Amino acid sequence: MGYVICIDGPAASGKSTVSRAVARKLGILYVDSGALYRIMTWQALLHGIDCKDELAVSRFCETVAVDFSVSAERIAYSVGGVEPGDQIRTPEINANVSPVSAVPAVRARITGWLRELPKLGNLIVEGRDIGSAVYPDSPFRIYLDCDPDERSRRRLAEDLQKGFCQTQEQVKASLLNRDRIDSSRKTAPLKKADGAIVIDTTALSIDQVVDAIIDVTREK
Ligand code: C5P
Repeated sequence: MGYVICIDGPAASGKSTVSRAVARKLGILYVDSGALYRIMTWQALLHGIDCKDELAVSRFCETVAVDFSVSAERIAYSVGGVEPGDQIRTPEINANVSPVSAVPAVRARITGWLRELPKLGNLIVEGRDIGSAVYPDSPFRIYLDCDPDERSRRRLAEDLQKGFCQTQEQVKASLLNRDRIDSSRKTAPLKKADGAIVIDTTALSIDQVVDAIIDVTREK
């Protein structure tokens, strides 16, 4: 089994960008756990499931099959042979993913998949409950924090590049709404894991955060 570097934090705190860069520098595999919750939401919407109906989502999630493969420096996902791209990052998915993620059966299914992945190699996994619930025994648990205005500025720039037109206020409201649902759900809420190292990325460059994560990991 490989080791796992756990990166948690609120929406748009810089987890994906820095985790990808750490994976490249250390020669390990990047795992985006949020993409699995987005895939579940995307599939539910495609099949006409009401994402606010917990029972319907619980039943539906058992039918979703995801294939995992090692691709360059990451674990890639496909559903029915299709690798989802930006279609899992739309404002509609953003509005539905947190209620879907709050469903215990969804969390159990995705946590089960994530716990199999260290068989494929050493990993850096980003999400909300990675250090607190998925791999609580990992010695490498980091929580990235960031000011909400800075987070919404960063996310707006990314969304505009993807062609999703929104104002910064809309992006900020969507991020804060997801944080609220993610941190108040009963099962595996977003929180700093006991003993996790906190890095505030607000005033730091990507390289500074990457170096801080690698330093923390080496110290451990
Ligand atoms: O990381 P990303 O913003 O793509 O995650 C989308 C959503 O997936 C989060 O807002 C949260 O509801 C859910 N999520 C989760 N647990 C994780 C990763 C993501 O509940 N480990």
